[in-house]
Amino acid sequence: MREMSALEALSAKVGADPLLVQAAGGNTSLKHGGIMWIKASGTWLMHAGTRDIFVPVAIDPLLAALERDDPACETCADFVRGDLNSLGLRPSIETTVHASFTHKVVVHVHCIATISLAVREDAEAALAPMLEGFHWAFVPYRRPGLPLAREIRRRLGPRTNVLVLGNHGLVVAGDTVAEAEALLDEVVRTLTRPARPMRAGPEPRLARLAQGSDYAPSPDPGVHSLALDPVSLAVARKGTLYPDHIVFLGAGIAVAEPGEAPQSAARRVGLTGRPEPKLVIVPEEGALLPKDAAPALHAMARCLADVAVRLAADDPIRGLTREDELALVNWDAEKYRQSLPTA
Ligand SMILES: [Zn+2]
Repeated sequence: MREMSALEALSAKVGADPLLVQAAGGNTSLKHGGIMWIKASGTWLMHAGTRDIFVPVAIDPLLAALERDDPACETCADFVRGDLNSLGLRPSIETTVHASFTHKVVVHVHCIATISLAVREDAEAALAPMLEGFHWAFVPYRRPGLPLAREIRRRLGPRTNVLVLGNHGLVVAGDTVAEAEALLDEVVRTLTRPARPMRAGPEPRLARLAQGSDYAPSPDPGVHSLALDPVSLAVARKGTLYPDHIVFLGAGIAVAEPGEAPQSAARRVGLTGRPEPKLVIVPEEGALLPKDAAPALHAMARCLADVAVRLAADDPIRGLTREDELALVNWDAEKYRQSLPTA
């Protein structure tokens, strides 16, 4: 099918742009002949075209289940067309986002420009003048799965083809891949604002500080901006801003006190019954990650640094609440995704 090849090409392109998608985040779909082909849970969009990352889901039973608020919509695994799913893939945990649109093609990205606006307390008001003329709606933060699907269905109008998801990302829809791609480009261009230059690092002392610990300086110079740019550091101190941060880097962000060992900083922040944070920021020195950190962790650390240089010190930032964090870490579908290899 020509549209499927076009979707694979768009998925690979979007997946390779760290300002749109990081690691296994983001997903795309195509509806055809009663089936929605959607990115499988845990797979990376950048691998579209070279690996099988799409899984077929029967649309009508899924929509009927959504209508009756059926818990089966949390994973959507029951709606997979097993006869067409030889690899046994599971659909994305965001399958219901895609199914909620009548459009044939849906693209969901964790766009940095969008996130830097969607984490504001006043996100909807801030976005309104920028997105004037688009058929758009703002969806306040809800946990992905049924809660997010419910909120989306409440806010979708008959012509809505752009959604900004609070503390999360962007969704665009179109009746062809080309249409969705053009809309994505236009919205991203509209929401893109200047960023402060990154303060590359780390300081040479950071490696000495990490000696003897399970942590090492991030190999990505830009990530150290979180420690070296005072405004980015202030943003990081606000805590977790969006779901994929928790999934890969744990809930909360550890900022080390002067002289504090990295593992102590992580433990101190992790003491509240949440998974220990994996990113440790040492102010004025740089950022540390576990020595054995998978590529996904590095991608998510970079994501935070990219978001932070697009925020100002006095922006009204809304971090995820402790309830938001716990709802995510205790969600079975997310546990499944976290159990998959992160490379
Ligand atoms: Zn998402």
